[in-house]
Amino acid sequence: MRHLDPKETRPARMGPLAVLPLFFDLHHRRVLAVGSGEALIWKVELLAAAGAHVTVCAPLPCAELTALAAAPPAGRIDFIARAWQPSDLAGTVLALGALKGIEAAEFAGAARAQGVPVNIVDTPELSTFSFGSIVNRSPVVVGISTAGAAPVLGQAIRGKIEALLHPALSAWATAARAWRATLNGRTQAGSARRDLWRRFADLALAARAPPKACELEKLSDPPTPRGGSVVLVGAGPGDPELLTLKALRTLQSADVILYDRLVSPEILELARREARRILVGKAGHAPSCRQDDINVLMVTFARQGRRVVRLKGGDPLIFGRAAEEIEACHNANIPVEVVPGITAALGAAAELAIPLTDRQCSNRLHFATGHGKDGRVPVHDWPSLADPWATTIFYMGARAFAANLPQLLAAGLDPNTPAVVVSSATTSRRTHVFCWARDLRHTVTGLHRTEPCLVMIGRSLRAPTYDTSTTELRDPRTGTRA
Ligand code: SAH
Repeated sequence: MRHLDPKETRPARMGPLAVLPLFFDLHHRRVLAVGSGEALIWKVELLAAAGAHVTVCAPLPCAELTALAAAPPAGRIDFIARAWQPSDLAGTVLALGALKGIEAAEFAGAARAQGVPVNIVDTPELSTFSFGSIVNRSPVVVGISTAGAAPVLGQAIRGKIEALLHPALSAWATAARAWRATLNGRTQAGSARRDLWRRFADLALAARAPPKACELEKLSDPPTPRGGSVVLVGAGPGDPELLTLKALRTLQSADVILYDRLVSPEILELARREARRILVGKAGHAPSCRQDDINVLMVTFARQGRRVVRLKGGDPLIFGRAAEEIEACHNANIPVEVVPGITAALGAAAELAIPLTDRQCSNRLHFATGHGKDGRVPVHDWPSLADPWATTIFYMGARAFAANLPQLLAAGLDPNTPAVVVSSATTSRRTHVFCWARDLRHTVTGLHRTEPCLVMIGRSLRAPTYDTSTTELRDPRTGTRA
């Protein structure tokens, strides 16, 4: 039988690249810029920020450019007050033209003839290089290009990367440069040194403040077990766009994520890929872990030195049993922090563009629970919730809400107060029904059983009358449009 000889294989070849990103050191290098307009000014500023000596050749002075030249971000900006000529390109490393038509073609041709890379604003066919979108955490610089296919997509990608990289990264990278020789001198080249710089990268990416000398000192100590921590993070009502930047960054540096059923999969997607994800299943209608078990898990992981994120729907401090979790951490001497989130009521109101207060008719806002400790009618100051000047939003137990309604009406709630029932706000499953307080019993019984739901009551909550096509402003009993 024939045997197969061992054969070394190579990694797959790289796929074709639309453009090659290069990072060009422009400090003290000459760049020629000709033409006029907003785009020219912005690119001259960019080139100067990268340390270039920019010569702007323009027959007419421009006040904005003159002001920029007086205080450039770095580098230098000079003017030649006449039309450009080919000899201006001598000694330049880049050429920039904000020109049109024949003049653009001539300028691009002259630059090419002299071997100078050229960019003609908005004219890729005449350009030999392009400017991408930039995320600036200098000395860390991220460049993004779509090779002209979709510049707005490039800007959107830039927005995402901006959100991921804390401004303090800049100080960490600067410190790395200053400390490189010292830190390398304290470790052997090879795996020990690589481990040190990996620890540095972990710290830099998780950091929310510039490094302190003592943090850098500790890096060269043999690794000691890291102290664990717990962060209660608000995931918002569902739409990942409603996460705060701080929540996103915390998710990006988590080792373990204990999350509730209300947290959407799209949000978990944004977490650090290596993080362990554990569903602890808190949601009113479905089986959940016991709170004590969640506390034990949280503390156990933190004691092992892990960065634990306790990820909760909406805001962690609103109907989130945060008090028990914070206390458990305090009792175990584990540092605990809270990152706020957008609570469901605010997400729902924003989505429907309905104000929760109004100078004319509502001067107070209540977030109330729809069910009490034993799952029954909660203990509330009912007359206060029934006050016509208050807007009240009931969380949890929309289905139990029917039992709350008689209490509200008996306490004086006007049955004709506007109300809206919203379920799965800010997600693709969202639904809402505008009605009146007197009809809420009927409205809530029609709800889907597994979707989280809010009952909102108050005079400011009228459906927008200017566009009733997007809302259901109906009398639920008669089915007629209001
Ligand atoms: N901490 C959360 C509330 C947790 S209590 C916050 O600040 O939003 C759980 C209740 O929140 C649910 O029963 C429901 O009443 C409400 N809720 C959470 N997300 C919701 C959503 N997307 N739409 C409607 N209600 C929601």
